[in-house]
This record gives sequence, structure tokens and C-alpha cells, in this order.
Amino acid sequence: MGTELRISQMIEAVHKDMESFPDHRRGRNIQYEIADAGMGAFSVFFTQCASFLEHQRELKLLKGRSNMEGIFAADNIPSDNQIRNLLDEISPEALGQTWARIDTQMQGSNLLEPFSDSQGRLWVAIDGTEYFTSSQIHCEHCSHRERNNGKLEYFHRVVTPVIVHSSQNQVLALEPEFISPQDGQEKQDCEIKAAKRWLEKHAGQLRSQNGIVLGDDLYSREPFCQAVLKEGYISCLCASQNHMRCSMRVSLSWTKANSSEARQNDAGTENMEK
Ligand SMILES: [Zn+2]
Repeated sequence: MGTELRISQMIEAVHKDMESFPDHRRGRNIQYEIADAGMGAFSVFFTQCASFLEHQRELKLLKGRSNMEGIFAADNIPSDNQIRNLLDEISPEALGQTWARIDTQMQGSNLLEPFSDSQGRLWVAIDGTEYFTSSQIHCEHCSHRERNNGKLEYFHRVVTPVIVHSSQNQVLALEPEFISPQDGQEKQDCEIKAAKRWLEKHAGQLRSQNGIVLGDDLYSREPFCQAVLKEGYISCLCASQNHMRCSMRVSLSWTKANSSEARQNDAGTENMEK
């Protein structure tokens, strides 16, 4: 039986990690701490406002009649523009230690138990999502595509793996992998390349948890299947009808060749095929 993972302790630890974010400001205009800006951005996810600005208004209303300061350990929350100015220079990798610690804490807690299947395995669904698009504003981390009118459109996408279970109406988010131009690569980055990087980075962790990778049609092509097999995962890649047989065959041929545990998975995969 693992220990209970408390949200207040986790938020406190996130605040502490943010205190070590690099501060790129020059001069004396340091009204806000970087950690306060970080917590201001982080708190958006608790009110689930679609608009950052709306969230800021709610935060102001709540302030004074709730203990928002206590919850987010931030007593001086900057405006949305100030938050952007303060955080834009900071790489998402600065949160790497936070993700690593939360992963370790999750493994030592009772949080994963309801997400394990009858054989103690965790199912990790991988998918990509776009969170920024503009034809005018862009940065060195943008991907781009040409529209029908010949104009370039810039965008940011990210691969967001989550632990899922059919009996749970929530998912457990794992460290995301950003789809962004990589050093030394001439071609643009893409969702599959980012997902492969994620697999490599998290191979040890998920192998120890008997991770099963779930993906949609995009992930059912052979190169990604091979990457999954190389890292020693069991895969369950759902494809559209045209690609279904190919990906299932890759999955089956590996599982047959590798382990008795995997043979049990064969049964599941064959059932899905029917
Ligand atoms: Zn950009």
C-alpha cells in the first residue's frame, strides 16, 4: 500500500522548483518573483477558464475572500501580460525536475492503484495537440505550414501522454514532449518524432510499470511500432480500417517473439481484431 500524495505538498514543491527558474531580467524592475508568475500561470489549470484574462479576473475576485495565496503559495500574482513577459524566456525543460519528482512520488503512492489493470499494467495513451496558431506572431520554436493562399502559418504542438483506465473519469498526465525544431535537424519536427523522443526518455520508468502504449491511426505505422518494440513496451495501436491489419501484425509478431506476459497480450489484441 503506497502513501497518500497530497495536493498541497505537490503545489508547495512546484513553487520551490519555480524559485530556481532562471531570471533573465536586467535592471531594477523586479516587482514580481519569477515563482509568483509561474504559480499565476499554473493556477489557470485549477479554475479551468478557457481565457487567461477571464482567469485573472476570477483570481482578483477570489483574492481576499479565499485563501488563493495559501493554495498557490503566491501572495503577489502578476497580470497575464506580466506573466508572459516573465515566463516567455524560460524553457519548459526548467520543469524537468518537477516532472521527475512527481513521477517518483506517484510510483511510491497509492495513486496508480486504480489505474492498474488486472495484471498490474498501466495503459498510457499518447496523442498530440495544438496550442498556438498565428500567421503573424512566431518564434524560433515554432513549426510552420503553408496555407492554400500561400501564406505561412506558425504553430506550436505538443505530445501529451496520459495514464488512462476505463473505470476512471480522470487521467494522470505525464511529462509532455514539445514538437519543436530540434538542434541539428534540417527537417521540421513532427508528432511521431516527438513521441519517439518521449518513449526513449521514459523507457525505463514505463517498462518497470509494464506500460502499454495506446495510440491512434497516426501511431499505427511501422516506424513508430518499431520504436515502441525497441524500447520494450507492449503496444496497442489503434488504426483506421486500412492500416489496422498492418499495425496489429507488428504488435502480434513482437509479442509472440518476446515473452509469456506478452502472449497474454496477444489474446487481448486478437480479441480487439475480431
Ligand atoms: Zn513559436
